Amino acid sequence: MESPGTSPQFDADVAVIGLGAVGSSAAWRLAVRGLDVLGFEQFEPGHPWGGSTGRTRLFRVACLEHPGLTPIARRARDLWRELEASSGQALFHETGGLMIGPPGSHIIAGTLRAAEAHDLPVERLGADDIAHRFPAHARLNPGDIGVWDPEAGILRPEAAIVAAVDAARAAGARIRTDTRVIAIEPDDEGVTVRTADGEVRVRRCAVTSGPWITRFVPGLPLTAHRVVMTWFRARAGHDANLDALPVFIRSVPGHATWIWGHGAMPGDDGDDGYDGYDGFDAKVGPEFDGPFAAEDPDAIDRIVHPGETDGIRDLVAATFPDLDPEPSGVTTCIMTHTPDGQFVVGATAHPRVVVGGGCSGHSFKHASALGELVAQSVAGEQPFTDASFLDPRRFNGIRS
Ligand SMILES: Cc1cc2nc3c(=O)[nH]c(=O)nc-3n(C[C@H](O)[C@H](O)[C@H](O)COP(=O)(O)OP(=O)(O)OC[C@H]3O[C@@H](n4cnc5c(N)ncnc54)[C@H](O)[C@@H]3O)c2cc1C
Repeated sequence: MESPGTSPQFDADVAVIGLGAVGSSAAWRLAVRGLDVLGFEQFEPGHPWGGSTGRTRLFRVACLEHPGLTPIARRARDLWRELEASSGQALFHETGGLMIGPPGSHIIAGTLRAAEAHDLPVERLGADDIAHRFPAHARLNPGDIGVWDPEAGILRPEAAIVAAVDAARAAGARIRTDTRVIAIEPDDEGVTVRTADGEVRVRRCAVTSGPWITRFVPGLPLTAHRVVMTWFRARAGHDANLDALPVFIRSVPGHATWIWGHGAMPGDDGDDGYDGYDGFDAKVGPEFDGPFAAEDPDAIDRIVHPGETDGIRDLVAATFPDLDPEPSGVTTCIMTHTPDGQFVVGATAHPRVVVGGGCSGHSFKHASALGELVAQSVAGEQPFTDASFLDPRRFNGIRS
């Protein structure tokens, strides 16, 4: 892009619209490049109203969704570690992860495809190995096998976003919180960004507004929809901590769907090895495979109603003998889907607008590196890895 630094006609080099998972890191990675960054967030960083709430997110390196995600996960982990160092907060906890399903299923075949493509140190487990090493998973479908990804773990989304915004500020970014962008108007020379307080003029714009992306890039085929998240406690006398129940994705006996989750973390009591973490219960959620009705992210019902957790309660009862299937905690979150389940990261049809989002239920782990890819796209650099499968222009009808 043009040489960094604002000229009289511009208020900043880049505006970043939305400082959630991807946008907070995009602002950070742009600012460390010496660009003059103006970041806008409609709430406070780490808020519960977008796609990144819920205390934890699974991290995996053997990414069953696409082998091209493995280098992105690894770059993301390096960046999460940098944010841990700069913030002094524990953001990533490696637990290892167990994928369970029939041989040839998406869970198993996808995980092995990524592992083989990148020579990852995964371990294949038979049903007996799983029963022996992970008795919490004793209820398996007949014929299910497992793959152990030793590099899997959990991230703390809210704290990670706050840490990235702080790192962006420390690198010189100007951050406007509680400021909602109303419109962006790109033209040949730059982009006008409008808020209730007025307008600013920037050379380029990164749209990282998560479930709200289509407000600014309306041709993208993204659908936002409400999801209920659920936590569970161990039955009296049983163990459901992370050691017994590390990160998992698995099939459920008698059900077509999968579930994902992890065990409980007792919290930092000084001698449990979980230094710096707040405690939480075990978390289990169902895989969503659509169809997805688009919902207005501003009108999402935030109340969890009686009966809404019956489905997950049955799945937990069918799967984990150590967990009390009655949820101990619930909340709502917004998931944003693309038609092919991959993110949208990179240039749009308008040369001054770059997008980063398209969550599809698996982007948090990658978000710091997706922010890096957004920054590279804005700065006109070669991406650190082949991200062509995430190119927003792969969908017909995109306009900006
Ligand atoms: C239930 C659930 C479970 C998940 N589990 C996992 C998991 O285990 N592992 C994993 O890797 N991923 C997981 N994901 C996916 C991951 O959490 C999301 O993909 C990711 O957090 C989305 O980040 P984002 O930056 O795209 O959106 P967000 O984090 O929502 O950020 C968008 C930001 O833009 C702001 N914004 C929007 N409009 C405006 C505006 N007009 N002006 C100013 N600011 C604006 C919003 O307030 C928000 O802060 C899960 C998602 C859900 C819903």
